[in-house]
Amino acid sequence: MLEIYQIPCLQDNYGFLVHDPETGATATIDTPEVAPINQALAAKGWRLTHILNTHHHFDHAGGNEELKAQWNCQVVGAAIDAERIPGIDVALADGDTLTLGSKQARIIEVPGHTSGHIAYYFAADEVAFVGDTLFALGCGRLFEGTPEQMSESLAKIMALPDETTVYCAHEYTEANAAFAVTVEPANPALQQRVKEIQALRAAGKPTVPTSIGLERATNPFVRSDSAELQAVLNLSGADEVAVFAETRRRKDHF
Ligand code: ZN
Ligand code: FE
Repeated sequence: MLEIYQIPCLQDNYGFLVHDPETGATATIDTPEVAPINQALAAKGWRLTHILNTHHHFDHAGGNEELKAQWNCQVVGAAIDAERIPGIDVALADGDTLTLGSKQARIIEVPGHTSGHIAYYFAADEVAFVGDTLFALGCGRLFEGTPEQMSESLAKIMALPDETTVYCAHEYTEANAAFAVTVEPANPALQQRVKEIQALRAAGKPTVPTSIGLERATNPFVRSDSAELQAVLNLSGADEVAVFAETRRRKDHF
């Protein structure tokens, strides 16, 4: 089993260490902030062997060069974004396999937030690292992609098994929940989840990770088939991309 250690970074980012106990291989998912990543490595007694980047934004790849210089680790990222990933050594594309010690991850290209965004899926451990593509009750802003692309990318993530544990890169859940209840006010699973989120945040606890099953039941950005959502958006019977695009547009102005 992979050991996963979650690290609050910057204002609202999460970094993650992924450790293979069989071989000692240890990856950081993105490099939002060097000091807390190094503190976590020291606390666990792990040596950093890999940096696995989801996308090029500074709060995800900003620590690449410093950590690579310190640990002489391999930097892994999207082939189509190779020129924007500092220090990249291994450039991967959709369907490629990344080996981390005795474990393997499948690369899933998920353009939309950025054009070169990728996710890492460790099938044997049922965990996925999705960066800024899928959030708990939300999704990433469309900085470089179209609603069509993001809708398709979210569908690729949602095709993973319901039990999959999903690690997203930001603690945005409370704000996402405030929006979600405006577009699906009568969803009982959402109402229940909002209470749980408020309790967690009031106790200073993270709402990440989430799961595919929980997002499927509650996240409006992956619920374009919901009759209530469509009705609230005045898009009853519209196609999935149109419903997603309008949901995203409203959240941008919420
Ligand atoms: Zn980003
Ligand atoms: Fe980010």
